[in-house]
Amino acid sequence: MTYIHDTITKLQKTSPAQAEFYQAVEEVLDSLQPILETSEKYQLHSIIERMIEPERQIMFRVPWVDDQGKVQVNKGYRIEFNSALGPYKGGLRFHPSVNAGIIKFLGFEQIFKNALTGLPIGGGKGGANFDPKGKSDGEIMRFCQSFINELYRHIGPTTDVPAGDIGVGAREIGYMFGQYKRLTGNYDGVFTGKSLLWGGSLVRKEATGYGCVYFAQYMLEAKGDILAGKRCLVSGAGNVAIYTIEKLYQLGAIPVSCSDSSGTIYHEAGVNLDTLKELKEVRKVRLNEYVTAHPDAKFIPVADYPADGNAVWRLPAELAFPCATQNELSEADAKALVANGCIGVSEGANMPSTQDAVEVFLDAKIHYGPGKAANAGGVATSQLEMAQNASMQRWSFEEVDEKLKVIMKNIFISASETAAEFGEPHNLVLGANIAGFRKVADAMIEQGVV
Ligand code: NDP
Repeated sequence: MTYIHDTITKLQKTSPAQAEFYQAVEEVLDSLQPILETSEKYQLHSIIERMIEPERQIMFRVPWVDDQGKVQVNKGYRIEFNSALGPYKGGLRFHPSVNAGIIKFLGFEQIFKNALTGLPIGGGKGGANFDPKGKSDGEIMRFCQSFINELYRHIGPTTDVPAGDIGVGAREIGYMFGQYKRLTGNYDGVFTGKSLLWGGSLVRKEATGYGCVYFAQYMLEAKGDILAGKRCLVSGAGNVAIYTIEKLYQLGAIPVSCSDSSGTIYHEAGVNLDTLKELKEVRKVRLNEYVTAHPDAKFIPVADYPADGNAVWRLPAELAFPCATQNELSEADAKALVANGCIGVSEGANMPSTQDAVEVFLDAKIHYGPGKAANAGGVATSQLEMAQNASMQRWSFEEVDEKLKVIMKNIFISASETAAEFGEPHNLVLGANIAGFRKVADAMIEQGVV
């Protein structure tokens, strides 16, 4: 415990004001206690000290011209965290809340997540404090082009391969790829999440949500239970949430909620997926419009949320899928979920549950799939996109989906077997962290002090 405390105190001095990053490091170090205590080699090689310091951090100015002719300036980031297992891999986030601490927490998590997939990919993350909401198509394009005018020199198909995240979908990847191609003259797989028209992989769009539901299914099946018939809470209304809801329906479950930054929809009869896609993928409007098409659904505006949490987690259901953003599920939310009969949580988002909320789930011994395991299907399918690009092949939807299922199953097995090995079979946080850590740490030792 003093070791964790000392490490965080040191980080607070060397990397000030990065609360989310400290939170992610603390959670991982907490899980690694049993292995750090017994394996001297990790201490001898200062593995933790090296792992928490990114290999490279790129921060840059992103100037662009808005529709009124005024020059705007944003801050861009790419944190190349760890390349022990392969090229840096991880998404780009465009959201006004983005800062160095958020990109570092995401990049740090990505190291372990990518290792868990068993695929040859290192960890990185990037983005900008740019808010795509309310921007015209031309503004989005000019921003993406300016972002790449700097980033292009740092990325490449065997060095660093970005993808999407919050605020970055197929449109933004298209504009960024176009500018990269213009600057370098290279038509190569430097991004994943590309359009199906020019190098994208089938199932990539659906992969994070689908994978998160497969993970829930494997957790339930391991205890002789099934997903079919279960009522499910989903937060978010973006890429991950939509395809979580789609897969829940395909497997016979009933998703009853979704949310965005304006509020929560509770639709007891089941969220209408066509309406949700129309509102969010086509018209890109606020979620309150959902009730116009479905008057039997209820919209809870953010102003009516409880002071200590998020209205979506106060609704009754058996399973919960947080798919919006970090720290969207508080300790009070976790207690409410458990009290209302929730038996499992599978995280589509990155670090959506606070550390105290995670403790509630672990103490209650309900199924808990931490994000770095449960949402790894997205990055795994990105790697399948890289493999198809490199071999100039195109696999069918069924082929990619089958590979995704196998990868998610292997992640579940790896996390649960490791948890059992360390005497806490239900603790997939511990299992996922140790399983991911061992692969990266051992590769770092074999590659010398670099
Ligand atoms: P999108 O931008 O497609 O959707 C994000 C959704 O979350 C939107 O509905 C958004 O609402 C909501 N949201 C975002 N920030 C907040 C906030 N501060 N408060 C309330 N709601 C918020 O992003 P994704 O679906 O791609 O990503 C969602 C999560 O999944 C993130 O944590 C991301 O890191 C993680 N993830 C994504 C992967 C991917 O493949 N896309 C892979 C692995 C993890 P609004 O539009 O109103 O802001």
